[in-house]
Amino acid sequence: MNYAELHCHTRHSNRNGVIECLSTAEELLMEAAKIGLSAIAITDHNTMKGYFEASELAEKFNLTVIPAEEFDTDGKGQILGYGIPEGIEPFRPAEDIIGDIHEYGGVAVVAHPFDVVRGMEDIGRIAGLADGIEILNHGAFGNNRADEFARDKNIILKTAGSDAHHRRIVGSVVTVFPDKCVTAEDYLHQLEKGHLGIKVRRNYCFSLIMGLSNIILTRMVWLLREKQ
Ligand SMILES: [Zn+2]
Repeated sequence: MNYAELHCHTRHSNRNGVIECLSTAEELLMEAAKIGLSAIAITDHNTMKGYFEASELAEKFNLTVIPAEEFDTDGKGQILGYGIPEGIEPFRPAEDIIGDIHEYGGVAVVAHPFDVVRGMEDIGRIAGLADGIEILNHGAFGNNRADEFARDKNIILKTAGSDAHHRRIVGSVVTVFPDKCVTAEDYLHQLEKGHLGIKVRRNYCFSLIMGLSNIILTRMVWLLREKQ
């Protein structure tokens, strides 16, 4: 069994000067290795800088690093792209972003589709265009419906991700790849096939408390910097 963190962020996810995350790629990889994960996809908002930093450190931590990014759409939803190159433009309609991810041979997953704030508009249609949906996300509120939705729509790629904005949250929930995986291509191949497992490693309250304290801490740092 291979356990992979498919949704986490580094300090490169900070948007418009607002700090959302203070952790570095190295800290995330260190945590992933410590808890026994075999792969990690750093899904920074609208940039692959975190991936490039992590890929340099993959060997040091004996982890497979999967190329990835989390794209903001022009609405309120977000799309996770795996196995993609740099340069896909965010802030466009979800269908255009998914189209580009497919054009480059990548895998498109709708992030936290039923989150009350960041859920995907018109999920019925967008889910049909994407390869899969994230049915478990430890940074989301109200995403519980996603599993039932995936079952109703016969979606075969169902993923889990901690959506960690702090190193301690990495690996709270992981996606389980049942077949042997060594390279990023192995993981991407299994993502394309779907039928993956999900494992909850830490309870939701832990992630929630850690996530909320991280939001408060990062906002405090931001306010202090603004005042200077
Ligand atoms: Zn995220």
